[in-house]
Amino acid sequence: MGNRGSDDDARADADADAEDEDALARRGRKEPKETLEGWAFTGRHQNTYSKKGQPVHEGACDNCGRRCEVPFRPVIGGKPPTCSTCRKNDVEKRAGTWAA
Ligand SMILES: [Zn+2]
Repeated sequence: MGNRGSDDDARADADADAEDEDALARRGRKEPKETLEGWAFTGRHQNTYSKKGQPVHEGACDNCGRRCEVPFRPVIGGKPPTCSTCRKNDVEKRAGTWAA
């Protein structure tokens, strides 16, 4: 009796976590960043123009201090989370400065 087991070569695909974390790539390792103090996950997700299902966080605007929501997780050392009003003002300011 020939007892030959044929093993299927299960190929595990490398789980490529495509994140746009340039800083992490430069450092060559991933460190869990801490969520900015005063900010909390709302439990909801939101699609943005560039990414789907972004975790909506709630906290105080870095600029005016008003309570607001942002479609990303604000982290220590990351980009400062600002409310939609401040974001709009900032864009307008930047758009005006290059002419001056
Ligand atoms: Zn603000």
